[in-house]
Amino acid sequence: MTSLVIQTAFLGDVVLTTPLLEALARRAGPVDVVTTPAALPLVATHPAVRRAIPYDKRGQDRGMAAFLALARALRAERYEAAYLPHRSLRSGALAWLARIPRRVGFHDGWPLLYTEVRRRPTDGHESDRLLALAGEAPHSFAPRLWPTPADAAAVDSWLDAVQGSLDGGFVALAPGSIWGAKRWPYYRELAEQLARRAGIVVVGGAEDASLASEITAAVGRSGGRAVSACGRLTLRQSAVLIGRARLLVTNDSAPLHLATAMGTPVVAVFGPTIPEFGFGPVREGDASVGLVGLACRPCSDHGPRACPLGHHRCMRELSVDRVLAAIEETGALRRRD
Ligand code: SF4
Repeated sequence: MTSLVIQTAFLGDVVLTTPLLEALARRAGPVDVVTTPAALPLVATHPAVRRAIPYDKRGQDRGMAAFLALARALRAERYEAAYLPHRSLRSGALAWLARIPRRVGFHDGWPLLYTEVRRRPTDGHESDRLLALAGEAPHSFAPRLWPTPADAAAVDSWLDAVQGSLDGGFVALAPGSIWGAKRWPYYRELAEQLARRAGIVVVGGAEDASLASEITAAVGRSGGRAVSACGRLTLRQSAVLIGRARLLVTNDSAPLHLATAMGTPVVAVFGPTIPEFGFGPVREGDASVGLVGLACRPCSDHGPRACPLGHHRCMRELSVDRVLAAIEETGALRRRD
């Protein structure tokens, strides 16, 4: 019988759940996954997943009626076990209402709703902490994504269209974040410097398009080569594009985890959050950068929308030179300069 994983957290959390999916599938075959519509394309093509079930908890499935309808649909599947990496009451209650006989969750979730409670490690990387739900050792599985050949072909054709700008490879920049305070403000200046050594591709959603335009225009004025992919590719295609980059520079946001899962070297810029929260780069050779010695830092688990103190020093005082030094540390550009 099939197991169910309920993971309706943010996009990056879903990427970091792929090691758990792989561990479970290795034991008893592919699992079903309840996840958000945004994250669904990432798990739908994963070989560890039999079926991805959308749950739009903040949109069209908002409210008790849709919640109960989903619980009924899950009950009809007669799952053998539910794994609950997301520690929300909603996830635990969904598995309980679906009458799944084994419900495995973390001690700091809703243990009364679980039949098996696992201790959630307090340190280590989030992907390893989630693996602990399956009783697996840290690093036994790594985050991985499985874009399709059609995704790769779409990216090939997009790259063909902009190829003249990117001969010799490119660096990807992901300057956006839904949390305003997590946005480092100097991507434009960084791009101008990096464009002396490689083409630049700005990645992100449609909401990042105007930020991307500022970056590509500035690089163009200084004689460099830059294009924007913001809003032009699907999520899986964006993962493919990041996978083709020589390096990704990103804030503490979902593209960091896409790069990890696609095996691309990454430099992650941290402001109000810190890598020690468990969401930093995990692959050897990758780097993170943050301002050391700022008393207010970190100020939030997720990163606030705006700096609560108004000065945003954690990002404003983090220089382009500091990020360039971290890029050098990775060696990712030196290898083909
Ligand atoms: S309070 Fe400090 S750490 Fe938080 S956003 Fe402002 S400057 Fe950054």
